[in-house]
Amino acid sequence: MPETRRAGRHFLQIPGPTNVPDRILRAIDRPTIDHRGPEFQRLAQRVLEGLKRIFKTREPVIVFPSSGTGAWEAALVNTLSPGDRVLMVETGHFATLWKAMAERLGLDVLFLPGDWRSPVDPEQIETVLAEDRAHRIKAVCIVHNETSTGVRSDVAAVRRAIDRAGHPALFMVDTISSLASMDYRHDEWGVDVTVGASQKGLMLPPGLGFNAISPKALAAHRTARMPRSYWDWSAMLAANASGFFPYTPATNLLFGLAEAIAMLEEEGLAHVFARHDRLAAMTRAAVSAWGLTIVARDPSCYSSSLTGVFLPAGIDADRVRALILERFDVSLGAGLGKLAGRAFRIGHLGDVNDTWLLGVLAAVEVGLELAGVPLRASGLKAAKQVLLRAEA
Ligand SMILES: *Cc1c(COP(=O)(O)O)cnc(C)c1O
Repeated sequence: MPETRRAGRHFLQIPGPTNVPDRILRAIDRPTIDHRGPEFQRLAQRVLEGLKRIFKTREPVIVFPSSGTGAWEAALVNTLSPGDRVLMVETGHFATLWKAMAERLGLDVLFLPGDWRSPVDPEQIETVLAEDRAHRIKAVCIVHNETSTGVRSDVAAVRRAIDRAGHPALFMVDTISSLASMDYRHDEWGVDVTVGASQKGLMLPPGLGFNAISPKALAAHRTARMPRSYWDWSAMLAANASGFFPYTPATNLLFGLAEAIAMLEEEGLAHVFARHDRLAAMTRAAVSAWGLTIVARDPSCYSSSLTGVFLPAGIDADRVRALILERFDVSLGAGLGKLAGRAFRIGHLGDVNDTWLLGVLAAVEVGLELAGVPLRASGLKAAKQVLLRAEA
């Protein structure tokens, strides 16, 4: 801990939780109200409708008082039965955690191996599904934006692959670190269950998990036999229909959620996505100028919410992160799982603007130099060129 007060703001540049804007803090900072009263009912109806616009769906979105992990579990236990086979893809650490959860729940997981630098391969999905003539696979589960690597998969292309194989499996997508940062379309992309959380692009503190649900998922729910109680969609949907919850909701986070939705709509979702695209391009330009390697192998799969960066062999990424935190009060994401110690992650999602990101990149650049990492050129200058081009 620092011995004296640190001036200015902490820069929370991990890919979630993200910096919570003042407007959201103010919205949450209110006396808790009766969650069975009329004021709450109006709030709940407003956020449940607003969430549909964020997920781009006309169908219900369920809100749990949980982290994203809870929403993962809810997606599985509401739609599947013990022993069901599910197809998952090893895009990175989060995909691996979801797979481990599915196994603990007693599902039979077919896990396609990956190199932690590449997206889901739709053709491979098509091949596996086409071979499954008995339709033993009940669900295909993928992570849209793999937060451990900064790799984005093409959800619409995976949907088309499932359709080409003519396979009836449910399609489940984790959009936890892409929702409200990168374009996401639950209905148009034919997703059956979308899993989200509050603390990333939605700019809220941790504590809300989401399931967007298609009619097909709801039909599967009616016959699914996995044990469930807290996560049960039926009880939620029944109560939500009149603007209430079956148990105490995270009332104050819902005040914040209403504000977050208002802020996203004031900026306009298309502008929110364009801003994230620009921030990501600035970050990648800096990383390339430094002469460091971006974890995502191919430009077609770059994430707009975070960038994973490899450090040269022999340099401990955690030591560099610790130095940058201590000296510049900037938190960067650690390398997770197979990337531990070898990579770090720059989160550029949520309530971030160009000026804020330039500050972050400056802190990283100086931190890398202080840590003795040889840099080829100024990353800041390269980031500035991206900005200049964006203005032209
Ligand atoms: C953050 C994250 C999770 C885990 O969410 P928690 O809120 O920590 O439970 C899962 N998947 C992805 C892609 C994430 O980014």
